[in-house]
Amino acid sequence: MGVTLRGVTRGYPGITALDSVDLEIDDGMSVALTGPSGAGKSTVLHLIGGMDRPDSGIVEVDGEELTPGRLDAHRRRTGFVFQRFHLLPALTVLDNVLAPVLPRRVDFDRRARAGELLEAVGLAHRAGALPSELSGGQQQRVAVARALINRPGLLLADEPTGNLDSSTGREIIDLLLALSRQYGMTMLVATHDAEVAANCDRIVRLHDGRITSDELVTPAADVFDRLGGFRP
Ligand code: ADP
Ligand code: MG
Repeated sequence: MGVTLRGVTRGYPGITALDSVDLEIDDGMSVALTGPSGAGKSTVLHLIGGMDRPDSGIVEVDGEELTPGRLDAHRRRTGFVFQRFHLLPALTVLDNVLAPVLPRRVDFDRRARAGELLEAVGLAHRAGALPSELSGGQQQRVAVARALINRPGLLLADEPTGNLDSSTGREIIDLLLALSRQYGMTMLVATHDAEVAANCDRIVRLHDGRITSDELVTPAADVFDRLGGFRP
């Protein structure tokens, strides 16, 4: 799903978190959002994920403005991965992956899909474990599987490696990139890690709520070719 921000401003008392930001992201791209703490990275992700609303300007996903009436449906087609894994401690790995779809009627076999996703993140053998029995990297893998249970077209990751050592973080990023390419998802990842950013298709740098640089790593035509492949 493509994403467009037009003149997006978001502020808090005394703070301009985002200052008239324009950004256009093509369907299927992986984009790193970099910049110092407080630059506005999380604010961008929250606005694109429909968890926050701009004070002014427009956020469009898949060609449609995210109006209040569309936010619930939009959140279901968006996957989120956070720095702190936010797993439910009393639920097993499998039930954590199923949690977003348990209260809802869905048109797919939840358990089969959860099993496939646990397979995809390399944790099928720990389906019955509790989060406290897993390492940080394994917990983040569960969070990645959970984020994909609705087959989102858009994956938003906010410092997903921030609580992990660098080699485990590297594995998580490789996993996120591989899955976003396999499933044809657009991915935005906020990160402080230059190596993480360098593996994305594009690097957008924010400072004080403004975009200060925007660098294409992978030519757009190559991304387009990649999307000729499998799409869920
Ligand atoms: P980043 O993710 O790049 O560290 P954020 O998007 O979280 O930056 O924050 C951008 C700015 O907005 C910061 O100055 C931050 O303190 C401020 N901010 C973010 N959320 C809130 C909030 N809920 N209340 C007040 N200020 C906030
Ligand atoms: Mg942040």
